[in-house]
Amino acid sequence: MLSKQEIIDLLQVRGADQKALFEESRSARAKCFDAQVVVRGVIEVTNVCRVNCHYCPMRRDNNSSNTRFLLTEEDLIAAAKCVIEQGLKVVFFQGGEAPQTTRLVGEAIPKIHALSPLQPVEILLNLGNKSRDEYGYLKTQGAESYILKHETSDPLLHKRLRQTDLQERIRCLLNLLELQFKVGTGTIIGLPGQTLESIADDIVLADELGVSMASASPFIPARNTPLDSCASGSVETTLNAIAIMRIANPRWLIPSVSALEKLQEGGQRRGLEAGANVLTVNFTPDSKRDDYEIYGKDRFIVSLDYVRELLKHTGLKSAELFSPGHAAEQQLDHLRADADAPATQSISIF
Ligand code: SAH
Ligand code: SF4
Repeated sequence: MLSKQEIIDLLQVRGADQKALFEESRSARAKCFDAQVVVRGVIEVTNVCRVNCHYCPMRRDNNSSNTRFLLTEEDLIAAAKCVIEQGLKVVFFQGGEAPQTTRLVGEAIPKIHALSPLQPVEILLNLGNKSRDEYGYLKTQGAESYILKHETSDPLLHKRLRQTDLQERIRCLLNLLELQFKVGTGTIIGLPGQTLESIADDIVLADELGVSMASASPFIPARNTPLDSCASGSVETTLNAIAIMRIANPRWLIPSVSALEKLQEGGQRRGLEAGANVLTVNFTPDSKRDDYEIYGKDRFIVSLDYVRELLKHTGLKSAELFSPGHAAEQQLDHLRADADAPATQSISIF
């Protein structure tokens, strides 16, 4: 692991030094992943939230809005079916911190697994702080991984901006790890009041927790929040944080987030060039997308076609994406192979 001072220095490099940093991080990525990128399909479950984060438009104080939604179990299963039909292997449920999501998502998970019995899909959740029992229930139902960003590791800033304790967030992360989830965490870069030192602490904390996924996203000032007139986070510092995370932990899954594209055209491509290896395509039902105002109304929505273009331009690959229907074909191949194998039991497939 790099020292804290080394991280602080690297966060600030620009020009030729930044280019060298990105080259090193791409080479670290290539050693572990070759050119493969993971593509997730995200479904935004609800914009209802009991927390009041200063940076987020879905905060509790905005709950009176009549654009609040909670998808139904049927919506979740239908959207997950679209993800699977496109050959993607990660169904990602994200949403506000609402207690209802535990049972709602928990009951949908086995039905989603049943849609793809031969090509198991990974169910990834990002539904906020929950009790250990709730996490345990979601795991038993078939969730494999959980993202819970610590957002900032500065306890005072965390308390001020999220109005909940950092220790509580960390307790949740430790519960998830103990329950054998594949865990992701992450940081928002450029929060008002944040220092480079505290960003370095964010990276060190993620490393110490022993997670397998991490992210760095730039802060986007959003309308109807107490931070709406603050400056955006720096794209360059965010890219450097991605590269540092990759070098420190070559095996991590690190997304190139849509917030980069919102702040700078080509920002998401630059995230891949800085060493990220995950892209997330939006599968939220069209009628609800505009109400999930995570980065404001005009957020950048990632489509499958856009991801295909992005991969083409960066020379990266996704095993799943270049032939839609691929997963379904593989299921069939698998069944045929079984049928051709010396039969120990008869298999009826057609
Ligand atoms: N409610 C859950 C998960 C959904 S929100 C939670 O908070 O854990 C998903 C992520 O959106 C949050 O983790 C936060 O990092 C990010 N986010 C919200 N508002 C943001 C903003 N204005 N700028 C950058 N990231 C933001
Ligand atoms: Fe709620 Fe998550 Fe937004 Fe905070 S970031 S207000 S927990 S949805």
